[in-house]
Amino acid sequence: MARQFFVGGNFKMNGTKESVAQIIDNLNKAELPSAVQVVVAPPAPYISVAVAENKQKTVEVSAQNVFDKASGAYTGEISPNQVLDLGAKWTLTGHSERRTIIKESDEFIAEKTKFALEQGLSVILCIGETLEERKSGVTLDVTARQLDAVSKIVSDWTNIVVAYEPVWAIGTGLAATPEDAQETHKGIRAHLAKTIGEKQAAEVRILYGGSVNGKNAVEFKDKADVDGFLVGGASLKPEFVDIIKSRL
Ligand code: PGA
Repeated sequence: MARQFFVGGNFKMNGTKESVAQIIDNLNKAELPSAVQVVVAPPAPYISVAVAENKQKTVEVSAQNVFDKASGAYTGEISPNQVLDLGAKWTLTGHSERRTIIKESDEFIAEKTKFALEQGLSVILCIGETLEERKSGVTLDVTARQLDAVSKIVSDWTNIVVAYEPVWAIGTGLAATPEDAQETHKGIRAHLAKTIGEKQAAEVRILYGGSVNGKNAVEFKDKADVDGFLVGGASLKPEFVDIIKSRL
């Protein structure tokens, strides 16, 4: 079965009620290809704005992070159940900014991924190596370690999309080359075949993320294991539509 092309937009900690509504309105006005699955992740306070504004059937809304409990004394945290209550269907987990700045561990990210799936959210699981790790040639060891933490406790990967985002490419304007991305995606898929089985590994979508924009997205077109993108900065701009259309 062909893997459906997927484009995620991660707004990070950007925007206002007005600007989030405007981005969604821009998507509403665009002629989006029906074959492309689009997921936008506004900051949590604006999830309801995005859900309410969205008129596109192919667009769904995501949280950027969730906690691994349904409710309780966890000040400042957001549960998957609350995200679902607002009408969002997805969450990101393991974004590198949470791994590096908030110091989330592989195990904690795995627990959150597991709990979010159990509650009914789909998950964009982000993985990727730092520049030092890339330079020392351990990229696939790092992504394997990050994936293994999840596969150890989650066996059904139907509702997981993996986003490979090398930390050195995020927000730097220095995207990985399509060849480098393909090679790493292929390695990630081969590793998943060993841990979650060949069938699931063949079906799981692996997105590339890191400085994707309206111009370079098309360069990844013929890369067999690049099943879409997770877009940060450019998802806030009109060129996000060009990225969604980059496989036409
Ligand atoms: P960027 O961010 O597109 O701004 O590099 C990607 C991401 O962090 O998901």
